[in-house]
Amino acid sequence: MKRTINKIIKSQKQEIMPGRFINAPLPSDEADKISPFILLHHFGPFEINYLNSFSFEAHPHRGFDAVTFLFEGEIQHRDSTGGYGRLKPGDVQWMTAGSGILHEESQPKDFLETGGLIHGIQLWVNLPKANKMTHPKYQDVQNEDIPVLKNIGVKERVIAGNYKGMTGPAKTFTPITAVHGILSKGGKTKIEVPADFNACIYLTKGVVKIDDKTADYADLVLFNNNGTEFEAEAIEDSEFLLLAGKPIDEPVVQYGPFVMSSMGEIKQAFLDYREGKFGNIN
Ligand code: MN
Repeated sequence: MKRTINKIIKSQKQEIMPGRFINAPLPSDEADKISPFILLHHFGPFEINYLNSFSFEAHPHRGFDAVTFLFEGEIQHRDSTGGYGRLKPGDVQWMTAGSGILHEESQPKDFLETGGLIHGIQLWVNLPKANKMTHPKYQDVQNEDIPVLKNIGVKERVIAGNYKGMTGPAKTFTPITAVHGILSKGGKTKIEVPADFNACIYLTKGVVKIDDKTADYADLVLFNNNGTEFEAEAIEDSEFLLLAGKPIDEPVVQYGPFVMSSMGEIKQAFLDYREGKFGNIN
């Protein structure tokens, strides 16, 4: 059975730092149809250099996985578990904030000195209540470890979950499929998702035709849960991120950098953060 489109969500523009706008299709009123995905921030492509970087100083998270998909540029990461990573184009960082993590995201000095484009997505994936206080950790998923399905005019990079016989390297708490698709103009692919997963596609480049509708750059296409496949055809050279996952049927309370199940747990997160229980970055 073919899945049909439920809704095409247009990204809101959000000024994430002075003069710097990102596309933010999530959070959305349609949140219950997109569980376990909570937030999607699409940054760039824009030019950065040492005068004008794209850096975030140390800040806390609790209760979810924060995932960075980097398409262009470089990002350097440090966190309170002692984790350090340097992401290059095609790399993905899958960070479990769990019971609490402090992290900072910046660009390596040598990259800022030369200057260049940065382009990527930050995605928040909810954790089930039972796993929210799990030990924080992070996974560096490198470009060369991501299996690629190739067809005429189509490349599909399987980052997480099972997809057309391939398995992505990222480990997740709940069943999730994450695939980065790269289509040349005229390229067509049949996208497969399990029947019991919520599914959406976010366009980072180009224009794609799906279910006789057209999705543009920065659109989030949300599907009905009425089938296991749909076809995408590129009208121009296009790129997308397919996100599908088994819904977590639990209350979600998001406040600032925390995603918990109740307001009481949010208050506790602020208290613990203030008391220094999220550790330090060394
Ligand atoms: Mn963060």
